[in-house]
Amino acid sequence: MSQPSDRHFDVIVVGGGAIGLSTGYHLGKGKAKTLVLEQFTFKNQLGSSAGVSRQYRIPYPEEYMVQMALDAQPYWDELQSLTPKTLLDKVGTLWFGDPAVHSTEGNIAEAEQALKALNVPYTSLTAREIEAQYHFRDLPDTYTGLFQADGASIDFRATIETLYEACERDPYTTLQDESPVTRIEQDGSLFQVTTPKGVFTSEKLVLVPGPYVDNAINLLGFTIEATYWNMSSCYFKKTDPTIQYPTWFVFQNAIGSNGNQFYGFPGVAWDHPEYIRVAPDFVIDPLASPEQRTLVPNPQELAYTSEWVRRHMTGLDPTPHFTSTCLIALSKIANKELLIDFAPPYVPNHQNIVVYATGWAAKFTPFLGKILTEMAIDGHSTFDISPFKLGYNYFKAL
Ligand SMILES: Cc1cc2nc3c(=O)[nH]c(=O)nc-3n(C[C@H](O)[C@H](O)[C@H](O)COP(=O)(O)OP(=O)(O)OC[C@H]3O[C@@H](n4cnc5c(N)ncnc54)[C@H](O)[C@@H]3O)c2cc1C
Repeated sequence: MSQPSDRHFDVIVVGGGAIGLSTGYHLGKGKAKTLVLEQFTFKNQLGSSAGVSRQYRIPYPEEYMVQMALDAQPYWDELQSLTPKTLLDKVGTLWFGDPAVHSTEGNIAEAEQALKALNVPYTSLTAREIEAQYHFRDLPDTYTGLFQADGASIDFRATIETLYEACERDPYTTLQDESPVTRIEQDGSLFQVTTPKGVFTSEKLVLVPGPYVDNAINLLGFTIEATYWNMSSCYFKKTDPTIQYPTWFVFQNAIGSNGNQFYGFPGVAWDHPEYIRVAPDFVIDPLASPEQRTLVPNPQELAYTSEWVRRHMTGLDPTPHFTSTCLIALSKIANKELLIDFAPPYVPNHQNIVVYATGWAAKFTPFLGKILTEMAIDGHSTFDISPFKLGYNYFKAL
C-alpha cells in the first residue's frame, strides 16, 4: 500500500483526551511522526477529562501504585517547565474515615503500610485532630486519618492546555479533531485507520479512547469487560471566605443507595474561587455502556453529597452549585485499577497496538504518556508495567 507522506505516520494515537495528548507530546519529543485523532474537539467535556480539577496523591494500598505516583513527579516537573500556570497546587492529601472500610481508593491502614515501606513521610491522625486541623466536624470517634504533604489539586484544564499547545508546537505531532476512527484495517505491518476526514496509515497504534474504549477496540476484534460511571460533581459556596481544605477523601460504609464515599478539594484561584468542589465517589446506577450516559447529574447523589457537607464540613453553604457529570470506564474489581497493555495475542500485530483504559489516571497524565510512548516505540517500558498488564483478564475476543 502506498500513501502520500502526509497521510502516513509512525504512530497514530486514537483519542485526544489528557492521556492521548500526553502520548502525542512524548512521541513528538522522541521525533516519532505522530497523528492524534480526536472524535470530538480537543479539550471536550464528553470524556473522562471533563471538568477542571483532579487529585494527585501518593497514598495507595499497593506499593506499586505508591511507586508509580512517586515516579510520576519528575514528569509533572517537566510539564510544569512548559507553562507559567501552576499545575499542581500542593495542599496535601487527607485520607480519613472508618479504618475498616475498603473503598474504590483502597484502605487507610493498608495505605499507611505501603507509605512506610517506601519511606514516604505522612502523619497519622485521630478524629479529633482531623476536626481541629482540617475544619471537619462531628466525625465518629472511631475515625482515623493520614495526611501526606505532597498531595495536590491538579489544574487539569491547564495540564491539558499545556499538553495541547506543546503538541501544536511540535513539528512531529499532528492534531486532528472531529475525526472519529470508524475502521481499523491491517495490510501486512501497516494499520489503515479510517476517519471522515480521510484514511491514514501507521506502523504503530496507541488506543487511549477513555470511556469509549469498547468502540475503539471492537474495530480490532476484541472487547473489554468494564463498567461505566457517569459521575456527578458540584461546588459549595464558602460562607467563611478564609476556609481552606486540603484534597481529601472520606472512607465510609455505604448506607443503602448512598455509597457514602466523598472527596473534595481546596478552594483554588482557577476554579470558581468563591466555591469549593466536593463530589461523590460512587454512582447509584453504573452503566452497561457509555451510550446510556446523560449529561444530567443524579439528583440523589448530589443530595447525599450536600447532606455530607451540611453535617461534616464547616465554612460552606450546603447548596450544590455548578453541577456537572464526567464519564469514566472502570474495571469491575474493587479498587478499579489501570489497564496498560498491548492488544491480546489473537489480534494481528498485537505487539504494535498499545492500549490504556480504565481507572483514575489524571495524576499520572505526564508519566503515562511517556510509558505508552516507550511501549509503542520500543515494544516495552522501562517502568515496570506488569501489575497493569491486565488484558488477559479484561479483554475478550469478539
Ligand atoms: C468525576 C471524575 C473524577 C476523577 N478524579 C480523578 C482524580 O481525582 N485523580 C485522578 O488521578 N483521576 C481522576 N479521574 C480520572 C481521570 O480524569 C481520567 O483517568 C483521565 O482524564 C483519562 O483521560 P483519557 O485521555 O484516558 O480519557 P478521555 O479524557 O476520555 O479521552 C479519550 C478521548 O478519546 C476520544 N475518542 C474515543 N474514541 C474515539 C475514536 N474512535 N476516535 C477518535 N477519538 C476517540 C474521546 O472523544 C475522548 O476525547 C476522574 C475522573 C472522573 C470522571
